[in-house]
Amino acid sequence: MPSHITIASYWRDKVYEGDMGIDWEDEAHKRCWRCGRISKNRNVTQRCHIIPSSLGGANKPENLVLLCAFCHREAPNVNCKDTMWAWIKNTSTAFYDTLRYLMAFEAYEKIYGVKFQSEVQKVFVSKFPEQTTSDNQVFFEVFGQIYGEKLTPNTTIHFGEGQTNPSTKAFLLREVLLALKGKTEWTISKERLKELEDKSNQVLADFLGIETKGKSVPKKRTPMTKDQLLKKHNDIKELLQQGSTTSEIVKLTGKSSSTVYKIQKIL
Ligand SMILES: [Zn+2]
Repeated sequence: MPSHITIASYWRDKVYEGDMGIDWEDEAHKRCWRCGRISKNRNVTQRCHIIPSSLGGANKPENLVLLCAFCHREAPNVNCKDTMWAWIKNTSTAFYDTLRYLMAFEAYEKIYGVKFQSEVQKVFVSKFPEQTTSDNQVFFEVFGQIYGEKLTPNTTIHFGEGQTNPSTKAFLLREVLLALKGKTEWTISKERLKELEDKSNQVLADFLGIETKGKSVPKKRTPMTKDQLLKKHNDIKELLQQGSTTSEIVKLTGKSSSTVYKIQKIL
């Protein structure tokens, strides 16, 4: 069986990336070619036959694509290679990891008979009539928190699927919306709000292809003077003077051995 890298390098000059859920330059051998899913911890993509082996498809790069477990199960099992490529092209999304949510929105509408997006909008407007950008950030921050809280106790991942499927996601979205409807207090810390604002400004800048003004320059550190160091680590100084060893001091103070060494040098 060819490796993930071999399969990706075989296809990169043959298929236009705009027709897929990935960019060839961006770890194409690790991402699902349909939904763009990647896992930081391990390679989650599977080698999927374009023409199934039971129909005579070979274990060769020209007959293999990379898909996550979920997409692999949904892929067509037919004796026609064009169908696989048409399926990838027409069911993939332009943004990473959005496919499962788009599918969840569809499932939501089918299960509950209303559009998720309009329900969200209704709740948002009822809670934040002014609808400022920071209202938006607070709303979705709280949304994410509740989503996380509801995830483990109320839903599970089907064996072998590796992730929450669309209809389960739809249920979760519903749970979160119901919780938000009843919510009266909307507080997040100022620091977190600032973080979110910086992040969304960056995303917008990246999206528009502009450089952000006033990019934060790492602050220059001014090293402490010897006296300041000795004052700060007086405990180490005293222990050293009492004849304690480095490992004893590390144990007693919880400070690192390099700090102990630094103080030792100054004394
Ligand atoms: Zn996928």
